[in-house]
Formats: sequence, structure tokens, C-alpha cells
Amino acid sequence: MAECLEQSFEPLTELAQDIEFASVRRWKQGAPHRKAVAFFPVYAPMEIIHAAGMLPVGIAGAGDRLDLQHADSRFGSFICSIVKTTFELGITGKLEPFDALLFSTICDSARNLCFVMKRNFPGQHFEFLHLPHSTSESSIEFLAAEYRRLMGELQRIAGVEITAGALRNSIAMFNRQRELAGEIYTLRAEAPHLLRATESYALLRAGLRMPVEEHIAILEEMLPKIRARGGKKRDAIRVVIEGSFCEQPPLPLIRVLEAAGCDVVDDDFTLAQRWFSEPLPLEPDPVQTLAERYVRCATYSSVRHFPAAARCRGLEQRIRRSRADAVIFLIAKFCEPAYFDYVLFKKAVDQLGLPSLQLEFEEKLFTFDRLQTEIETFVESLIFD
Ligand code: SF4
Repeated sequence: MAECLEQSFEPLTELAQDIEFASVRRWKQGAPHRKAVAFFPVYAPMEIIHAAGMLPVGIAGAGDRLDLQHADSRFGSFICSIVKTTFELGITGKLEPFDALLFSTICDSARNLCFVMKRNFPGQHFEFLHLPHSTSESSIEFLAAEYRRLMGELQRIAGVEITAGALRNSIAMFNRQRELAGEIYTLRAEAPHLLRATESYALLRAGLRMPVEEHIAILEEMLPKIRARGGKKRDAIRVVIEGSFCEQPPLPLIRVLEAAGCDVVDDDFTLAQRWFSEPLPLEPDPVQTLAERYVRCATYSSVRHFPAAARCRGLEQRIRRSRADAVIFLIAKFCEPAYFDYVLFKKAVDQLGLPSLQLEFEEKLFTFDRLQTEIETFVESLIFD
């Protein structure tokens, strides 16, 4: 059974990194008039896209699978890799299966990417979602209006009406997906030897490339098998990873971390699937609910406007919940939101008396010798302290 389970992660890993979006093309071919919407990290109201009968698909750059031929002439050298590779995906025609692309106000680079792409790809539909920058009551009304505007656009593209019933059904689906994603993280914190971070990463990231119903079925089937897995606890350092919420670190880098003696007991990868830790209520008004929960209860994140002290508290809770021994700040090169928060987060981690290490990555990185040395030195300094 263990071997069979091992093999299940391979296709999911491939699916998560596929820059041809074969699974999206297949899904669209499955029935006439099917439509797909790609969203740029970190968050998107997937429930609204799903309620329009469309497939929400998370895009996360191209990793090391695409050489930049055009993007460097559109963006400065100080812009993060995911912005450039997403543009490159567009100019090489790989985003063709998408009927719309959705961006939001996560940072200046993402905002500019949306409008640079809009200018360069006039045949494609772009949506930009303004997420509120305060937690006031009026922010909820503002966001509900933004969601209704988005619904109007999606209804026009999909040719269907998004009813309150359909939206409630979609919220219930994503509640279930978030619940299962939460179970994966609880399991990782309780028994990291049963599920490696690379496996959990593939398992969840693949869910951004398939219908939520299919992903729920996969998680429901695999979770009991993972719990029943054998294996001994490793003598490893329990680490929380912070800072990889948008551009995703290369899988081999996560393997390097694990091989160096780290049990990654929590991280901020594929955050869209864990944006809310509690189920969203279905009543009374589902649009209002989505807006209210975004403003009041979403997870802390460097790209979500939220008081600085509350963001630090969010990280501290994650550290306590996962009983971490250390924090690794794994930050994408040129990611301003992550670097701004690094200063605050490092201070909070120091005050907890926890050691930390800051590393910088690019999604397209393929040699890890220097990072491996830094990680091994850090782990050894803790083990032999
Ligand atoms: S990696 Fe950072 S800077 Fe780049 S688009 Fe994402 S949030 Fe913005």
C-alpha cells in the first residue's frame, strides 16, 4: 500500500507543475461551453467562479520550465520571477485555455502585471479585483460590491446566472476542501514522518488545477491511507516556513530542506486553499458572507492589508500550533511584501526565543549547493547547541 501511495504523488506533482495546462484543456473538452478562469496568487474568490459553472485554476508562474525570451523586455530586472514567467506563459500562448484571468491588489508588481498583460494580449479577458485595505464596516460593503461586479462579468462570459443557491453550494464545496487541507496540515504537525512537505505540497497544489469536487475525492481517499502509513519519527528540527505565499519555491529546494534534517511542520504554500480556517456560513447572503469573512477572518498574510501586530500574532499562532523549533524565512527574490514583513516577523520570532534563518529563492532556481550549505549549517547549529 505504501508503494501505491508513493506512486499517487507523482502524477499530482506533474499536474501541479504542468505549464501546458493539459488538465484544464481536457476538462474543457469534456462538455461544450465549459469555461476556465485563471487566477494569480495569492487569493481569489474561487466560490464565485465555481458558482458560474467555470473552473477556477491557480497559476503560479512557470518554475524552471520556461526560458524568458520576451518578459525581460517588459519588466525591470528588479521584478520577481513569477511576474515575468506569468507574462511569458501568456506570450507563448500557454494561457490560451483560459476565458478570463483574474488579478488582485496583492502588490504593485502583480497590479502592473495585470495591465501589462491586458495591453499585450488584447484578445484575452482580464479582471482586476480591488481587495479592501482596511477592516472597517464599509470595507465589507465595498468588497461585496466588488464581488457583485465580478459576478456580473463572469455571468456575461459564462452565459449563466450565478444564483444564491449555486453560490451557497460552491461555498459548501470549498468549505470541505479547506477542511481537508486543514487536516493535512494538522497531520503534518502531529506526525511529519507520515507526510513529507513535498508530498503535501503536490497534493494541495494539484487541487488548484482540477475541479474542487475531484480534489475533495482525492483528499478523502488519500488521507486515511496517509494516516495508516508506517515509518519511524525522524530526528529532525521542526520548522515553520514563512514568506513563500506567492511565488512558490522549487520542489527540489523543499527536498533539500527535508534532507538536511528539517521537518516542515507548517508553511504558507498554496495559501488560497487555506485562506479561511473556519467554514464560511451559507446564510443569509452568500456574497455578503464572502466579503465579511475576507475582511474579518481571513488568514494573516503579508499581501493582505491587516494591522502589523495582528500579522505577527498570526505567525506566532502558527509557530505555537505546530510546536516549531525554528522558523525559516523562505522569500522570493524581489518580493517586497515578504521583505517588508520579514523585519517585523524576525523581531516577533526573536522575542519568542526561536532561532530563524532567512533564505532567498527564485522559482527557476535549479542548483541548490549554496542554500544546502546554509540550511545544513543552521540545522547542525541547532542539533549540537
Ligand atoms: S512574489 Fe511578491 S512581489 Fe512578486 S507578485 Fe508575488 S507578492 Fe508581488
